[in-house]
Amino acid sequence: MNLCDIREVKALLARHGFRFSKSMGQNFLVAEWAPRDIAAAGAGGRDCGVLEIGPGIGCLTRELCKRAGKVVSVELDPALPPVLAETMDGAENFTLISGDVLKLDLPELVDREFQGLTPLVCANLPYNVASPILRALVEAKRFAAITVMVQREVALRLAAKPGSKDYGALSVYMQLYTQPEVLFDVPPECFLPAPKVTSSVIRCRVRETPAVSARCGEDFFFQVVKGAFALRRKTLCNSLGTVFGSRLGKEGIAQAVSQCGLPPAVRGEALGLEEFAALADCLWTAMKGGR
Ligand code: SAM
Repeated sequence: MNLCDIREVKALLARHGFRFSKSMGQNFLVAEWAPRDIAAAGAGGRDCGVLEIGPGIGCLTRELCKRAGKVVSVELDPALPPVLAETMDGAENFTLISGDVLKLDLPELVDREFQGLTPLVCANLPYNVASPILRALVEAKRFAAITVMVQREVALRLAAKPGSKDYGALSVYMQLYTQPEVLFDVPPECFLPAPKVTSSVIRCRVRETPAVSARCGEDFFFQVVKGAFALRRKTLCNSLGTVFGSRLGKEGIAQAVSQCGLPPAVRGEALGLEEFAALADCLWTAMKGGR
């Protein structure tokens, strides 16, 4: 069966009484080149184990199985396993797990399923939960690379550099732990049903150690990042006030900003990872009373 032939796909779905769900972000790929190129970018080889989130009816899954040693796909919609039993019949390196990827113990899944293989992620993500899924994948600390299709707007945010309009807390988070690289776009007409937005494939190679290390620890580092982007149109000092104002006051914040060599009128969006680490350490020291 050709899973990229719209007539065949519609007949398959009708036979299973399947209805698309918006809330589960169901837009299935129906242009042959797209699943092929995504798998080529993200499936590695026979020495790799690939986690796919949301196989849908299996068009990307099939391409992943052609390349990887093993493919484990997690699907939330209980209507899809019977469809996949038909479309993935005979794929011996394929395992389906029914459930919500956000509720799974991912490190345990990887250690159980991918012994002796390099764990990777390759998926066309449900766009409504793409950010929490990406965080869970990074937090699992198991994957060598995460290659996913997301809304173009999200892909640009993940890879955005300081000073650009797309740069924000999500960019800092992903760039601290990975090296995001936008690979190519996939237009709406490649999907059934067609989404309203353009999609992009992004590959995030996971760093062996975070890009910078702040002495204050990662939790405090991210409090600072959150504070720095809280009021994007204001200065860094004003924006940090939303998180640290009650503890440090305006002057304490201004002093910490100046101590790490930043001009008083700087905005949070101008800071790179090194500058965020230095700022977090200065604020941390100020909170500890200068010690
Ligand atoms: N991989 C297929 C393709 O490229 O045609 C389908 C991709 S579709 C954009 C997203 C898929 O993720 C759907 O099959 C949907 O049911 C599934 N999904 C949505 N939320 C999920 C979750 N929390 N955990 C696992 N799968 C999920």
